[in-house]
Formats: sequence, structure tokens, C-alpha cells
Amino acid sequence: MSSTSNIVGRFAPTPSGRMHLGNIYAALVAWLSVRSAGGRMVLRIEDLDPRTQSGPWTDYLLADLHWLGLDWDEGPYYQRDRVEAYQAALEQLRDAGLLYPCFCTRAELHAASAPHASDGTPIYAGTCRGLSPEEVARRSAERPAALRLRVPDHDDPAGTISFIDRVFGPQTEVLARDCGDFLVRRSDGVFAYQLAVVVDDALMGVTEVVRGHDLLSSSARQIYLQRLLDYPEPAYAHVPLLVAPDGRRLSKRDRDLDMEGLRERFGTPERLLGWVAGTAGLAPDTEPRSASGLAELFSWDLVCAHRGDIAVTTASDFCQ
Ligand code: GLU
Repeated sequence: MSSTSNIVGRFAPTPSGRMHLGNIYAALVAWLSVRSAGGRMVLRIEDLDPRTQSGPWTDYLLADLHWLGLDWDEGPYYQRDRVEAYQAALEQLRDAGLLYPCFCTRAELHAASAPHASDGTPIYAGTCRGLSPEEVARRSAERPAALRLRVPDHDDPAGTISFIDRVFGPQTEVLARDCGDFLVRRSDGVFAYQLAVVVDDALMGVTEVVRGHDLLSSSARQIYLQRLLDYPEPAYAHVPLLVAPDGRRLSKRDRDLDMEGLRERFGTPERLLGWVAGTAGLAPDTEPRSASGLAELFSWDLVCAHRGDIAVTTASDFCQ
């Protein structure tokens, strides 16, 4: 499909398991938004974590997107091939004096008393913020350090990030209060998701980020990094999660709602997409529809009509 607008969207899956219903809905909306506007779609495999690099999941992801008819114009890019770009951004932050080594263990970070951000990450208490050079040298000899980004103090307006999410509306986060100094590189040397995603979205020219609601709270950190690195800010749209009938978040354990089970039960992409679209309000009914048929019906108003999680009937109940 040729591009007729400057909109650039992306799929950015992590190959840690088979796609499930929630991923399908977010990917579908990302694709519909780009295709209905004549934009360009990028596919990026977020395989920074070595544990995601050897499984069969990337092949399944590509095959499942292809089966659904959710195509892309550029990529797949693989994050594992892009560490030089992340390193360059990290050095820019380091040169600006914004990074410091952190030696806290996972247990220390998750100590019972630590308040947690809305995405479940503990709000960093600043334990390693003021270590002396001697202390850093002593601890570095014992174990490798992670690297954290120093966020502005509570009363510094630079640390208050406001943006408008296309679905969830105006958002404001005070970084010092809501997440604290955050990781840009883990102690095993793997670059943190927040840094990699910002570098990639900027270098790939992404203008709109459409993803699940569970990542809404990451956006403030990402916007802050974009400001520090002098990158443009994409538009954000977080879509509601499709959840199990009892309201539970779908996980890799819900086998009947992952692509293997869904492909078996629905048989064709049109039957599956029609059901997802009808359940989420993107179509007036659950009749079979192709991805391109749905692009003709698509409008953001349909997505915005649902801000809460969308509970599905199980595929086995629905599809006899
Ligand atoms: N790789 C992330 C995931 O699969 C999504 C990242 C993003 O869309 O920013 O959950």
C-alpha cells in the first residue's frame, strides 16, 4: 500500500511468547490507524533481553501478523542489532551528568516498604544517588552496577510531564514522585526498555505510538528522555486491554486466547478479526471482516468509546 500521509506507526512486540488476544487488539488498532490515514508501518522486534533471542517466538510473531493481514512497510528491525545507537544515547546522557551507577539488588528495590509506581516498578528511593567516588569504586569491584537517570527534584517544573493521550485524555506525572530515578541500563549490561524504545522511535521516525494501556505510565519517562535527547515527541494512544471474562489480565497461560488456540478455533483471520472488532466496538457486529475491511470502518471515536478494560467471552464459549 503506498503512503499518502506522513504518519508513521509501529508494531513493537517482545518475542517472549505467542501473541494473545490483548496484543492482537493493540496491533490491530495501531495498524488501522496508520492504514486508514495512508501512513507507514514499521515492525521492530524488541528482543533486547537475551532470554527473548533464542526462542521460536519471533518466527511465530511474524507468521501471526502475516496471517492476520497486518502488514508493515519497513523492518523487521531487531533491537539486538541496535545496541550502538542505545550506547550513543547513553553517552549523551552521561556527558550531561545525568547518570549514576546503582548497586541495589532486586530484593532491596522491592523491600516491602517501598512504594510502587502504577506499573508495579518500585519507586526508586535514591539509595545510590549520592555515593562518593570511593564508594562507587569499592562497590564496583564487588558487583556490576546498573545505570540510573537522575530525574529533576519535586519542585523543578522540568520533572512534571504532561501530555494528551488520544484515548485516556490529559495525563500528568511528576517523575520524582511517580517513578523516581529510573534505569537506562541493567546491571547485566542490557539497555533498559525505556531508553531503547525512545531511541528507536526517534530514529525510525515514528509519529504515533499505539499500544496497550499497561504502558501508559511509561510514557512520561519516555517523553522526558525525548526532551533530554532532543527528539520529537510522537502522539500517544493507549488502548484498553482485552481481559479474560473474570477481569483478569490475559497472560501467556491463557492458551485458548493465544494465537495458537485462536487460530485453531476461528479458522480464518476474518472470523477472528471480526470477533475482536465486534467485541471492542470497532465494528457494529462480530461478522467476519478482513483487516482492510475494518480500515474502511475505522475511526478513533470508536476506540475512544471504551476507556475501561474490555472483557471477552472465552473463545471456546463463543466459537462453537
Ligand atoms: N515491546 C513492548 C511489549 O511487547 C511494547 C513496547 C511499546 O509498544 O512501546 O509489551
